[in-house]
This record gives sequence, C-alpha cells and structure tokens, in this order.
Amino acid sequence: MSKQQPAPAPAPAPAPEAAPAEEKKPEKKEKPKAPKRRIQVGKLYKVDGGAVSRLRKECPRCGRGYFMAQHKNRLTCGHCGYTTYTSKS
Ligand SMILES: [Zn+2]
Repeated sequence: MSKQQPAPAPAPAPAPEAAPAEEKKPEKKEKPKAPKRRIQVGKLYKVDGGAVSRLRKECPRCGRGYFMAQHKNRLTCGHCGYTTYTSKS
C-alpha cells in the first residue's frame, strides 16, 4: 500500500515530563525578611538647645555626613570601608 494518507497535523511537542502545572499556581509566598536595618539619623545627632552635636565619629576619608558605625572594638565606615580599631587595652 503506497497510498499516501494525508499526514495528520503534527502533534504538539510533548510537554516535558517535569513541566510544572501552571493551572494551579500557588501564590508566591514571600519569605519573611528580617526588617531592614535603616540607619536612624536622629540617633546620630544630639540636639541640645540650639547646638547640634554628633554622636558618631565621622569618616576621615568621606568627610562630613559619613558616620562611622560603632562596633565592639572598631569603627567602620559603611561608605568606603574605612575601619579604625578602638582597643581599650
Ligand atoms: Zn568613609
């Protein structure tokens, strides 16, 4: 039999076996993130009457407005990475 039958429409490519079911999409659950620590500018200054004093040391590299983060034994600038150690021994 050499009668050619009309080729059936090409079947759609078989879906990969591990295809995720897209019908029921579970709602994206966002992982509970730890609250982002924002710098509290108000804690960097101390207003005493009309005078403003800075409670943190400023970065010697970055200059004014860049405060050093206070750690146990060091001060670090988050902007440039400048670190100075404050060993009390
Ligand atoms: Zn700096």
